[in-house]
Amino acid sequence: LKVEVVDKKGDTLRFILRDVEISFANALRRIMIAEVPTMTIDDVFFFDNSSVLSDEFLAHRLGLIPLTTDLDSYVLPEKCECKSDMGCDRCRAILTLEIRAEKEGRTVYTGDLKSEDPKTRPVSDKIPIVKLAPGQGLKFEAYARLGQGKTHAKWQAVSEGIYKNLPRVEIDQDRCNLCGNCVKACPPGVLAISGEKLTVENLLDCSLCNFCEEACPLDTPAVRACAVEDCFLFTIESTGALPPERIVSEAAVILAEKLRDFGEEFEHLVEEPGRDTKDEEKNDQP
Ligand SMILES: [Zn+2]
Repeated sequence: LKVEVVDKKGDTLRFILRDVEISFANALRRIMIAEVPTMTIDDVFFFDNSSVLSDEFLAHRLGLIPLTTDLDSYVLPEKCECKSDMGCDRCRAILTLEIRAEKEGRTVYTGDLKSEDPKTRPVSDKIPIVKLAPGQGLKFEAYARLGQGKTHAKWQAVSEGIYKNLPRVEIDQDRCNLCGNCVKACPPGVLAISGEKLTVENLLDCSLCNFCEEACPLDTPAVRACAVEDCFLFTIESTGALPPERIVSEAAVILAEKLRDFGEEFEHLVEEPGRDTKDEEKNDQP
């Protein structure tokens, strides 16, 4: 197994995973989407809301605000020792807001939220929450907790978590007559003619549409695009809650834990074949 980082732009990371089965690539992708935990507002207590939006509507909007997540300081509420509905410092962070629009109306933005923990704050200060008319006010206390995308999409760490097979473009330079048809036919502009030769410019942009092969006037096309079966190009875009590289490494840790749990359970079963594991289910892991 080999990993190669292609680039990182803002919250988007691209990397190539080589020499793996598609099932492994897909397991990693699914864990990144559904199981890497992030911090999100989960309970809201309203003390004043004279805005045009109802409490439920506002609570739903607040839940969808991505918050920066400190995975090293917090634990999932179900794994916290406090076992309290309201939570403790280890399993929740409180964000508050108190605003009253005076003579002029105003828009309430995520930047108006005040967090008790500076490491848990909105990813952007410019997300509008609600508009207040003169005289209207809003006051609430919001409880943010760790959670997973499989419970609710608001906890999803990635806004995009995809992979595709690494493309390979083969060119038969001896037979290519440099007509340029394939260069024009390729939508992402993968091919180019430079120095009396057909060359591959942006291989990673190839979507394997095969328009280049179809455009070639030869009976057997001089250019051929195919997929490398055991290599995958991943594109991971974080919501901003976690750095994309942390999402990937966290997914790998979760996958390793699952395999270790399975191994231990399996060993017990081999030692005591009659034992029923169903009664001992400790968690809801599929
Ligand atoms: Zn707790």
